[in-house]
Amino acid sequence: MFPTEVKVVLRRLEAAGYEAYAVGGCVRDLLLGKTPEDYDITTAARPEQVAALFDGFCTPTGLRHGTVTVRQDGKSFEVTTFRTEGRYEDGRHPSVVCFAQQLKEDLKRRDFTVNAMAMNVEGQLTDLFGGQADLRQGIIRCVGEPKQRFEEDALRILRALRFAATLGFSIEKATGHALQESREGLKRIAAERIRVEMTKLLCGQNAGDILLTWPEVFGIFMPEILPCVGFDQCSRYHCYDVWEHTARAVDAVSCDPILRWTMLLHDIAKPAVFTKDAQGNGHFYGHPQRSAAAARDILHRLRFDRRSAERIEQLVLWHDRQIQPTDKSVARALRVMGEERLRQLLAVKRADNLAQHMKFRQRQQEITELEEIMGSLLAKEQCFQLRQLAVNGRDLMQLGLQGTAVGKMLQDLLSAVVDGTLDNDRTALLLWAKEHIRRREEESG
Ligand code: ATP
Ligand code: MG
Repeated sequence: MFPTEVKVVLRRLEAAGYEAYAVGGCVRDLLLGKTPEDYDITTAARPEQVAALFDGFCTPTGLRHGTVTVRQDGKSFEVTTFRTEGRYEDGRHPSVVCFAQQLKEDLKRRDFTVNAMAMNVEGQLTDLFGGQADLRQGIIRCVGEPKQRFEEDALRILRALRFAATLGFSIEKATGHALQESREGLKRIAAERIRVEMTKLLCGQNAGDILLTWPEVFGIFMPEILPCVGFDQCSRYHCYDVWEHTARAVDAVSCDPILRWTMLLHDIAKPAVFTKDAQGNGHFYGHPQRSAAAARDILHRLRFDRRSAERIEQLVLWHDRQIQPTDKSVARALRVMGEERLRQLLAVKRADNLAQHMKFRQRQQEITELEEIMGSLLAKEQCFQLRQLAVNGRDLMQLGLQGTAVGKMLQDLLSAVVDGTLDNDRTALLLWAKEHIRRREEESG
């Protein structure tokens, strides 16, 4: 059941007289028939005893919390001493960590029944809270009294929704009730931790359902979504309100964090720009710009890295831009965006359309056409980017251009090449540039 390296670590601890188990997410995943990404180990041995046993092959990662990282055959494992958690005074961090004598204590502090099982090296399962039954029935249920568990650590609120989204599980009634009641606690949680859980949630197979069911929880750290809930679009293109459209658009795009966050945020400012014409049709002029601005705020607040934030913001800004299914139009889009971003944009457009009224799904065909044109343009190895241009800035400086005029001329050359009015040929480009410089001098002189 376990990979050899895990067995080696467990056996070594056992041979030294310490109980040792694989625990948490890896046991859950094994029972679900999935390959765990990593294995966490829990043991009766104290951190210094673990360190002594794996002398030279470990790092004291979080000694205060009883965690030692052990290396075995090129893999790393977190080995953590059985512990109970002391009182939480701030709803974030336990004020003291106490080591425990028994596995039972360690399992009791874990968040959900499906995450609170342990397995020894023989494959024997310890399941004290009905984790197996909940796994079989697809239920996320707190270990212990839900309200108290969410008050101890409010991140568990989001974790419950995250596991429901990724495993496709439902939330047990009392757990659901308590998480809704305790949701304000999320205000005390560090933005980074919210971002990590929210990203995993969004990438889950059931993200859309969870978004639809629990908007008030997400509204604690993204109040911008709340006006979207139930907002009637008054539009023949849309059979869903803004929030349901959003949730369905999230499900319709592949499980990539950038794309999933883009779909979550793409229409977020729609309620803010809504207008109705004389015929009663709803319009959302300028919603991509306003949504991109709101996205920027949210991503900044959640401490996204700059690169990801810029990407998401740009995709939100462009999600509604028209690209004609012609060589020229697609070539221009390639020039402005580059291949990877254009591919992402087309994926966003596809998902956006899939979450609209059935009657307008013919757009799917148009997007396929755009992808085909892009493929054939790329296959021809045409030039779309500055670095592919047959001249560079230095060449232009030799013609006497300076400063920003260099960049501007390069862009003009690239536009002409992409539009097909000029060949990407060094001599031709230099001639064209010289001609333009001469004309400009005449005009100004
Ligand atoms: P993943 O597959 O995403 O890693 P996981 O279950 O391993 O899922 P982790 O965040 O790695 O999740 O946590 C490992 C284990 O530690 C959990 O399975 C759970 O038993 C316990 N745990 C983690 N966070 C908490 C928490 N906030 N409160 C209580 N127990 C927690
Ligand atoms: Mg894990």
